[in-house]
Amino acid sequence: MSIATINPANGQLLKTYDPMSPEQVDAAIGRAADAFRTLHSTTFAERGRWMNAAADLLLQECDELAQLMTVEMGKTFVSARAEVAKCASACRFYAANAERLLADEPGDAKAVGATRAFTRYQPLGPVLAVMPWNFPLWQVMRFAAPALMAGNVGLLKHASNVPQTALYLDELFRRAGFPVGAFQALIVGYEAVEQVLVDPRVRAATLTGSERAGRSVARIAGQEIKKTVLELGGSDPFVVMPSADVERAAEVATTARCQNNGQSCIAAKRFIVHTDVFDAFAEAFALRMDALQVGDPMDPTTDVGPLATEQGRIDVEEQVDDAVRLGARVLCGGQRPEGDGWFYPPTVVTDLTPSMRMWTEEVFGPVAGLFRVDSYEEAIDLANGTNFGLGSNAWTRDPAEQERFARDLDAGSVFINGMTTSFPELPFGGVKNSGYGRELSAHGIREFCNTKTVWVGEGTATGGAGSHSE
Ligand code: NAP
Repeated sequence: MSIATINPANGQLLKTYDPMSPEQVDAAIGRAADAFRTLHSTTFAERGRWMNAAADLLLQECDELAQLMTVEMGKTFVSARAEVAKCASACRFYAANAERLLADEPGDAKAVGATRAFTRYQPLGPVLAVMPWNFPLWQVMRFAAPALMAGNVGLLKHASNVPQTALYLDELFRRAGFPVGAFQALIVGYEAVEQVLVDPRVRAATLTGSERAGRSVARIAGQEIKKTVLELGGSDPFVVMPSADVERAAEVATTARCQNNGQSCIAAKRFIVHTDVFDAFAEAFALRMDALQVGDPMDPTTDVGPLATEQGRIDVEEQVDDAVRLGARVLCGGQRPEGDGWFYPPTVVTDLTPSMRMWTEEVFGPVAGLFRVDSYEEAIDLANGTNFGLGSNAWTRDPAEQERFARDLDAGSVFINGMTTSFPELPFGGVKNSGYGRELSAHGIREFCNTKTVWVGEGTATGGAGSHSE
C-alpha cells in the first residue's frame, strides 16, 4: 500500500509520502537509543509535566486534529473530537499515576534471608509500535502515554493511510518537552518492520491490527527473543437474555455495532438473542440501524461515515453477499449506495449458518449478524465458538446469570448491561487469536518494564540464604 492520505468520503488523493530509506530508519533507531539514555534518568515528575503538556496541546488543537483524522480515515468529526479528548485524559491519567503504578513492591525479606528484598519496574528501551488506522490517535496514545511515563521510548510505524496523523504524533511529544528522539514516527510501509524488529537497539514491540500482521511480528520477534504485546481482531458477541431491557439493549447494540463506522475491534459483531425476546429485539434493532444517518463525516448530524479504504468496503460487501447467496436474510441495508466515497449502510443479517463467512470471520464495517438461541448454554457455545476472544457483552438483569456470563465468556473482557469500551483505569486485551498481553491500567504500563528482583543482604560471611542457584 502506498503511503498516502486519500479522503474516504470522496476517494480523492490528497497527499503522498515517499517511505523513509533503510538508512533513515537506522538513524531514527539511533536517535531513539540516545533518547532512552536521557529519558531513563529523568524523574516521574519531569515526565509527568511533559505528558500533561502533551494533553494540553491535544485539547488546544482538538478541532484541527479531529478534522485531519476525519479526512484521513472517514470517522465522523464528532467522534474524532471525542477521541482527542479521550487521549488527553489518558495522558493525564498516566502523568498522575505512573509513579504509583511502578513503585517498588516490597517482598518478604526475612523469608528470603535478606535485609531488603523488593521488585522494581524499570523501562526496557526503544519499543516499536505498529498501529492501525481505525482510532489513529487513541491506539497510539494508549501505548505511548504509559510507555513514555515508564521511561521507554517509542518508534511508531503507523498505518500507511494515516501518515499525517503519524507526523502530528511525531511532533507532539517533542513539542510537549520530551527529549528529541523519545517518540518518532517511521514513515514506512509494513515491509520495513522487520528491519526495526531485528535491530538489537529495539527491545520490544506492540502491534494493534489484523491477525495476519500479528503473526508476522510475533514470528520475527520470537526469533529475536523480544517481548511483544498483540491487540488483534475480534468478533465480539452481544448476548441478550429474556430478563434484559430489550429496548435499551437494542439502542446500545446499534451504537456498539456502528461506532467508528463499524470499524472497531471491540464493536459488537454477533448479536445472540434468546428466542423469548428475539422478535422484539430484532425489530427494535433493525429499526434503529435503518434510521442511522449515513453521509458526510464532517456533518454533525451524520451517524455513519464512509469505510476507511476501498478494499475495506469490498471486503464487507463480499461477506454480506456470500451470506445472502447461501440463504441469509437481510433485515435492513445490504446494498452499497450510488456515488462517490466508500459508504456502506448499517445492515442486519439473520438466518446465518456455519458455511457462511460471516459465521466465523470478523466483519469490519457496520454489519450485524443476528442469531437466535434457545438457552443460556446455546448462547455461550455460540459466543465462544470463534477463534477470537477480545471483548464480550451480555444483557441480563438476573444476578446469577450475570455471574455465569462473567465466568463463562471466553474473552479478555465481559461487559454486562453496558457497551464494551476501554478505560485507562482497566486492563484491555484479548485471548485466543485476539492476541495477548494487556494495555492500559497497571498491567499495560508494566508490559514494557523489566520486573527486576532486588535482594540485599548484610554482606557478612554468614549473610544470605540462597538455597540453590539457577
Ligand atoms: P493491518 O492490516 O494489520 O494493519 C495494522 C498495522 O499493521 C498497519 O500499520 C500495517 O501497516 C501493519 N502491517 C500490516 N501487515 C503487516 C505485516 N505483515 N507485518 C508488520 N506490520 C504489518 O490491520 P487493518 O486491517 O488495517 O486493521 C483492522 C484490524 O485491526 C482488525 O482485525 C481489527 O479488529 C484490528 N484491531 C484490533 C484492535 C485491538 O485493540 N485489539 C484495535 C484496532 C484494530 P500498513 O498500513 O503499511 O499495511
